[in-house]
Amino acid sequence: MKIDEARNYHKIDAVIVGAGLAGLRAALEVAKSGLSASVISKVYPTRSHSGGAQGGIAAALANVGEDSPQLHMFDTIKGSDYLADQDIIELFVNEAIKTVYEFEHMGVPFSRTEDGRINQRDFGGHSSPRACFAQDVTGHVLLHTLYEQCLKHNVLFFNEFQVLSLLIENDVARGLVAWDIRQGGLHIFHARAVLLATGGYGRAWKVTSNAHANTGDGVGLVLEAGLPLEDMEFVQFHPTGLYKHGILLSEAARGEGAYIINDQGERFMKKYAAAKMELAPRDIVSRSEQTEINEGRGIGGKDYVYLDLRHLGKEKILQRLPQIYDLALNYLKVDAIKDAVPIQPTAHYSMGGIPANAHTEVIRDAKGTVVRGLYTAGEASCLSLHGANRLGCNSLQDAATFGRIAGIRMGEFCRENAYNDLPAEPLAKAQAKIDRLWQAPGKEKHADIREELQVNMTKYMGVFRCESEMLKMKAIIKELQERYRRVAVDDHGAAFNLDLIEALELENLLSFSEVIVEGALARKESRGAHFRTDFPKRDDGQWLKHTLAWRRDGKIVLDFGKVVVIYPQYQPQERKY
Ligand SMILES: Cc1cc2nc3c(=O)[nH]c(=O)nc-3n(C[C@H](O)[C@H](O)[C@H](O)COP(=O)(O)OP(=O)(O)OC[C@H]3O[C@@H](n4cnc5c(N)ncnc54)[C@H](O)[C@@H]3O)c2cc1C
Repeated sequence: MKIDEARNYHKIDAVIVGAGLAGLRAALEVAKSGLSASVISKVYPTRSHSGGAQGGIAAALANVGEDSPQLHMFDTIKGSDYLADQDIIELFVNEAIKTVYEFEHMGVPFSRTEDGRINQRDFGGHSSPRACFAQDVTGHVLLHTLYEQCLKHNVLFFNEFQVLSLLIENDVARGLVAWDIRQGGLHIFHARAVLLATGGYGRAWKVTSNAHANTGDGVGLVLEAGLPLEDMEFVQFHPTGLYKHGILLSEAARGEGAYIINDQGERFMKKYAAAKMELAPRDIVSRSEQTEINEGRGIGGKDYVYLDLRHLGKEKILQRLPQIYDLALNYLKVDAIKDAVPIQPTAHYSMGGIPANAHTEVIRDAKGTVVRGLYTAGEASCLSLHGANRLGCNSLQDAATFGRIAGIRMGEFCRENAYNDLPAEPLAKAQAKIDRLWQAPGKEKHADIREELQVNMTKYMGVFRCESEMLKMKAIIKELQERYRRVAVDDHGAAFNLDLIEALELENLLSFSEVIVEGALARKESRGAHFRTDFPKRDDGQWLKHTLAWRRDGKIVLDFGKVVVIYPQYQPQERKY
């Protein structure tokens, strides 16, 4: 092992990649059980994307109006366009309530009803006020509270470490290798159990609500390890991204009563989802918005419409939606108290990801065979809770609830299993990636390739898709992958070498984007967030199934898995709002 063993080799029971809600919640559970838990994060923990979540976290507390886990279950199944696995949803809606009360007891400052209970607001696709919130900074307070709890319970943090390779041999996870961004150098993490909680991957698009770190490293590494990804064609576009920036204006705005209007000042959702209006699920609102724009009813005929908060009044806007007010003012110079805010659909959430069972154990085929010691939770995972379309506020809850379940299962696994040996050359793969970028003879720049990927994904893999455009995108990705082989990194420094970091991230972006395109080309139907103009109908006969995708010999290979439908009353039916 060519490594400074004392400094760069770490032996830890549970190694968790990602310091978002999923990773921290898992780490807390492992640490509380008396085992050693480490969190590795490429950004400082409280800068993880979970901290950017605004609107709320869903649980059927029934604090404001009638509600029940059964209703939450049905809303989630319908929202998913019937692709979600119903056993997972049933587990989720019941655990969700416990998760919120745990957060309350940890000290999360939730907004309150007049009689002092956790307040709840309306959210798209939920048939009761179900989103527990703290103003419009819900993710921020959840993340900070969890981070404090992790410090209190002695979770060991490796901040600004970027994971470059997984150490998996004979279908058993043994640890991973990470690059120290601050000082340079590779570190080996030898573990009994590994959790991948690397979050979403919206950075494959130019217009996105996602943080810069959301480059899909976890899904990229899983593909590289010869394991499959699930349902990658389903990517959610959020209808209220700030025009041109893509920065999110939370659905909380519409939950509080904001309108969406076109050039004629019309609340056009009445044509598309008369009962739910602006609070229809996101796939439907985004498509309606894009249709208005495509048919020339965008503002001034341009590619945006308005989010109108004016009728809510100054007091409600500043009290309930202060962040949204600031974002519009700072980025577009629009005072949302006086003027409507320009918005457009923005790439927001990844329903697909690393396949796992209800225990968050990563699986490697359609039969559900487990990779021992490897776990996944949060947006990087696909259990499948959200199916073809996620409901707002179900994602923070997903990350926290399945983060906790992952922590419990990893603890049990660590108690029952000894450390497995590391592969013979643990550093080889990570070192080869770096050496190649430092020694490449080529002149290609990673920033140019990333820009071309993002611009074209926005153009060809957006709210509406069709075969001819997706084939163009497929060819573009192939060409960009070819060019990536000639990317050279000029900066050979050790400390904060962002040139190197971004080049490494690009490899992942190019890798999983190809899976998204292949999955979308194969799925000849429209379901949830995946809408094909050439196959505009849902086709349950052919396509009520999950997609699994592997990279084999440079090509994407697909297989399909069964959707779990457990109750007769939740059989697929037409989805109307
Ligand atoms: C703007 C915005 C608003 C949202 N609002 C809501 C909302 O109101 N309600 C809701 O339910 N959902 C919301 N969502 C979705 C929700 O916030 C996310 O799905 C969820 O927080 C994801 O949590 P996570 O723990 O899986 O990942 P993240 O919080 O994204 O964390 C990922 C972690 O992985 C680490 N990481 C990634 N790659 C590597 C690597 N190679 N090496 C080391 N570390 C790595 C990062 O450093 C980070 O710590 C919102 C999303 C966005 C973008």
